[in-house]
Amino acid sequence: MRWRSYCWILRFTQDDGFLDLSVFIRIIRGQKAFPRAISTCSVCAVPAPKLIIFDCDSTLSAIEGIDELARVRGPKVFAEVEAMTAAAMEGKIAVEDVFAKRLAIIQPRRADVAAVGRQYVERVEPTALATIAQLKAAGWTPLILSGGFRQIIEPLAAHLGIARIEAVDLYFNASGDYTGFDAKFPTTRSGGKPERIAELKRELAPARTVMVGDGVSDLETKPVVDLFVGYGRYTERAKVKAGAHAFIHSLADLPALLEK
Ligand SMILES: [Mg+2]
Repeated sequence: MRWRSYCWILRFTQDDGFLDLSVFIRIIRGQKAFPRAISTCSVCAVPAPKLIIFDCDSTLSAIEGIDELARVRGPKVFAEVEAMTAAAMEGKIAVEDVFAKRLAIIQPRRADVAAVGRQYVERVEPTALATIAQLKAAGWTPLILSGGFRQIIEPLAAHLGIARIEAVDLYFNASGDYTGFDAKFPTTRSGGKPERIAELKRELAPARTVMVGDGVSDLETKPVVDLFVGYGRYTERAKVKAGAHAFIHSLADLPALLEK
């Protein structure tokens, strides 16, 4: 970086006559100190994001993507996979115990990805689009953090205006047949969502972090967020409701909740 760039950064971080040396150092180290949507820290005039992180399945949309992938393979496969998904979301079995197994049974094809992607949009939570627009206008940066699959979620994220998806990649060969998934991604295992949020917080240094979701894997994020909001429109889980800081049945309730 040239000396003129350093001077520009120094001037920027001296806004209102206050130099924040930590921000200056982070920028010259190449860290992302100024993400897309920002608010302003009242103490030092340093922009800091407010993150609102959404679970996807049974939160932003009525469906469970993995179950819909299974439905394509017929009722027997659907019933088997749905039972495993429900048990994992209830916290009765570990996510990692069913993750690879469900996909091995289903053997999803690339064509199925597009079909289920359309279902996510068709069955979107009815207040999600307006609520996310309202939250963005209020300075919140929405993200999706899911144990589902990135390629399938992309149409829904685009529909809702959510730029960043944290989810599992599926792999296919040239013929469109299933060859595997990103087994290293944290949400393929129990405890993966708080692990990924901790990484996001190190990357984005948010002023506030909120998580919204319906499952036990979402509730696990409570220790690493400022507010965990349980969601019960599609499935009301007693464990999530009991453990959440707040529990809602419509995403439209979020803006008022976040003003408190
Ligand atoms: Mg969910």
